[in-house]
Amino acid sequence: MTSSPAKVALVTGAARGIGLATVKRFLAEGWRVALLDIAGELQASAAAALKNPDATLAITCDVSDAAAVRAAMAAVMSRFGRLDALVNNAGIAVFAPVLETGDDDWARIMAVNLTGPFLCTKAAAPLMREQGGGAIVNITSISAVRASTLRSAYGTSKAGLAHLTKQLAVELASLNIRVNAVAPGPVDTAMAKQVHSKEIRADYHDAIPLNRYGLEEELAEAIYFLCSERASYITGQILAVDGGFDAAGIGLP
Ligand code: NAD
Repeated sequence: MTSSPAKVALVTGAARGIGLATVKRFLAEGWRVALLDIAGELQASAAAALKNPDATLAITCDVSDAAAVRAAMAAVMSRFGRLDALVNNAGIAVFAPVLETGDDDWARIMAVNLTGPFLCTKAAAPLMREQGGGAIVNITSISAVRASTLRSAYGTSKAGLAHLTKQLAVELASLNIRVNAVAPGPVDTAMAKQVHSKEIRADYHDAIPLNRYGLEEELAEAIYFLCSERASYITGQILAVDGGFDAAGIGLP
């Protein structure tokens, strides 16, 4: 009897933070993983640090570039021959009052956070269809459901991605492709270090019932679960992993 080949996941924004923790989670379960990131050097060193060259593939790609995304999917197929899960994790944040949000910043946030997942899904779904199905997880944010100051662009991009998740779940169900989202509360990654001021940090701690930031590994666990067979009947859902922040109903700092 021949054993079936290890499953394959593609994680965008995989060089660090929640993306890299997710890569490690998949590898721990015996999957093979394509690490896609715009930061080529960082992502190559992340892949090297995993010390698992047979099971990893580093791809330098901007998720907002349709041709580059198609080439990335081709690279995954040429190396691994299949694609079982896509994690649309790459994202950028600019926190600024709406009147001070640059037109370019607005456009870039939409391009990376919303158009990127659209392009990656469009390129990945036909590959999944060929092999009878797959799973997609989009990383949104608690900012998708809570309006606040400073996040007009970021929150709107993530709310768009949350809705896209539901649209895709309904449309792609006939291809046996499940589509869900994970909505993190604050996680102390490079992104949070860049946009969370001291005041925002203090307010978050007060507003989160569990009283702390989330860990990258806690997000990775939820993302892996939604990609796994254990979630075989779950599609179109947005799972908040936020220490109870959304449930508490307190405004974002
Ligand atoms: P991070 O900045 O640490 O990592 C993001 C990665 O995405 C980086 O490696 C970066 O190089 C890559 N990236 C950026 N633009 C890209 C592009 N155009 N194409 C390909 N790769 C690109 O961020 P993180 O905190 O790990 O965030 C991961 C996801 O989680 C993001 O979508 C973010 O919006 C979301 N999120 C984070 C938090 C938080 O508090 N950290 C909260 C809610 C949601």
